[in-house]
Amino acid sequence: PYDVLVIGGGPAGAAAAIYSARKGIRTGVVAERFGGQVLDTVSIENFISVKETEGPKLAMALEQHVKEYDVDVMNLQKAAQVIPGANQGDLIEVKLASGASLKSKSIILATGARWREMNVSGEQEYRGKGVAYCPHCDGPLFKGKRVAVIGGGNSGVEAAIDLAGIVAHVTLIEFDSKLRADAVLQRKLFSLPNVTVITEAMTTEVIGNGEKVTGLKYKSRNTDEIATVELEGIFVQIGLLPNTDFLKGTVQLTNRGEIEINSRGETSVPGVFAAGDCTNVPYKQIIIAMGAGATASLGAFDHLIRTSAP
Ligand code: FAD
Repeated sequence: PYDVLVIGGGPAGAAAAIYSARKGIRTGVVAERFGGQVLDTVSIENFISVKETEGPKLAMALEQHVKEYDVDVMNLQKAAQVIPGANQGDLIEVKLASGASLKSKSIILATGARWREMNVSGEQEYRGKGVAYCPHCDGPLFKGKRVAVIGGGNSGVEAAIDLAGIVAHVTLIEFDSKLRADAVLQRKLFSLPNVTVITEAMTTEVIGNGEKVTGLKYKSRNTDEIATVELEGIFVQIGLLPNTDFLKGTVQLTNRGEIEINSRGETSVPGVFAAGDCTNVPYKQIIIAMGAGATASLGAFDHLIRTSAP
């Protein structure tokens, strides 16, 4: 059996694996797609000490760093079920979608998340060419330009306020008749001179010139009329979905499906730890996920030295 089995090969999983392997304990990583969301990122400018890099380059560096150590990397393998031991100290079983089964004294869940997409024409084509999902990551690329934020919940309104300080103009588009964000955020938003809020509007198309986004089309849910907004960027803020469906009923999740952890990365199940975007950590970033992976790994090591026979 493994001492530590990490599920997920993004920044959180890679950091967890390296920290575990450096303790000289038996470490494995099961990853559906090693690299995680980093593989889908064009340019990264906020990974401190690396001025600028590209997603696939950082993903490759993550994998190479993990492979410097004695870690079993099982890439292109999906975990389908986690079965905690019946008694404290029993091995935890991880069933893979392939039918295989792995056993470990401790588990670190680092399965990440994915942004909910609009599913409109042009969205995929212009992803990374004007269509963005992370204001902290890509906001500065649109300095002095016009952008839209899709979604009027807390994350959408926070994004609009954040972007309004950087870009020339923000159009916030909400499907419902009113914004769902907290009142204090809405007050702030409506006080800003360079923000327009459009409610009861459904985004129908991302328009571009073949290279970059040039605008979007939305349909008024009142009049059915289609309108066009000219702009250079679109931030989609309609939800971040944690990859935790297979954990329902196993570990405690929040109502948004995020794994609940404490400051040591412990979940509700002894021996099961979690880190990164799949957890209830408030901010979702590479550097934060890596720190959380290190925390969970040290938490797991602490658990092992207290529970394993010498
Ligand atoms: P992820 O990166 O999501 O990795 C999850 C891992 O788990 C993957 O290997 C996945 O295949 C695997 N997995 C999932 N389910 C299973 C399963 N059932 N079994 C086995 N494996 C599974 N952050 C920044 O700091 N700077 C940026 O510039 C930046 N830009 C971004 C741009 C885009 C387009 C996106 C989508 C995100 C961006 N982010 C950025 C956010 C950043 O990528 C994430 O915060 C970070 O990758 C989270 O790391 P993670 O390890 O928690 O999860």
